[in-house]
Amino acid sequence: MLNRVSTFEPDMPRMPVRGELLRQRLDALVATFDVSTIEPDPLQLVLRYGDPRDQEVAGILAAAFAYGRADIVVANAGRVLDRMAPSPYLYLTSFVPAEGRRRFAGFTHRFHKTPELVALLACLAAAIRTHGTLGDLFRVCYDDADKDIGPSLTRFVAALIGKRRTKALDYLLTSPANGSACKRMNLFLRWMVRTTPPDLGIWPFVDPSKLVMPVDTHVHRIATFLGLNNRKSADWKAARALTNRLAKFDPADPVRYDFAICRLGILDLCSRRRRKENCDVCLLRDVCRFPVR
Ligand code: SF4
Repeated sequence: MLNRVSTFEPDMPRMPVRGELLRQRLDALVATFDVSTIEPDPLQLVLRYGDPRDQEVAGILAAAFAYGRADIVVANAGRVLDRMAPSPYLYLTSFVPAEGRRRFAGFTHRFHKTPELVALLACLAAAIRTHGTLGDLFRVCYDDADKDIGPSLTRFVAALIGKRRTKALDYLLTSPANGSACKRMNLFLRWMVRTTPPDLGIWPFVDPSKLVMPVDTHVHRIATFLGLNNRKSADWKAARALTNRLAKFDPADPVRYDFAICRLGILDLCSRRRRKENCDVCLLRDVCRFPVR
């Protein structure tokens, strides 16, 4: 990776030297990873579709199952979407659980199987029947007066699950109400709301400054290396605190750093067991607290 440094803009608010250097390095990191570096990432499944209604359905399914290894997530969620071809949205408009149990027989993703998938599809189908699209439901749940996206996400998940609540649905559609970092739902919101690639920007009614970082194990670890995280648990408070730190670099769009930071982890460029060969060429080396020398 080339060690590129962005130009300092004189009208930016003054920050301590390390903060300013860190901002420059993170901006350079963002510029390094474009959509050509996306594989493997569940977002690549969403980018298959051109219709926003399909992108919403593909997005929430890909995000719900985005736990475990990224290549396996893409394979398993991709097979589900293949069976909903050509339009996952249209498939859900006439969804019947008994037919779904036959169509998705044999589905497995880690500890979730066909019954859990069908229950999730039933939630999405009910929301589409009532509101038209998932975006229309989120618009009902969204309140620009909230200080972050948390309360809107809580309302959205509660409306989606309704009276069908089960342990599996609580896991697949996480809510800030239970303190979880909600990495997968925050990821889904990033895809829908942010307007620069690889994200889709199909929910323009949501202010990107309200988004909260999707904190997974990679983001949590690398944020700690960079001095942006001091919480042990990757929970909602940690996600909120990291977002606040990143908002100092970009108040209008703090979550824009997520894709690039996450790439470092998914592509094994910054591994759990830090490696000298990675650190030697790392763009973040001079702002990292623990480079291997
Ligand atoms: S310097 Fe090494 S440990 Fe630090 S972020 Fe880069 S690869 Fe990771």
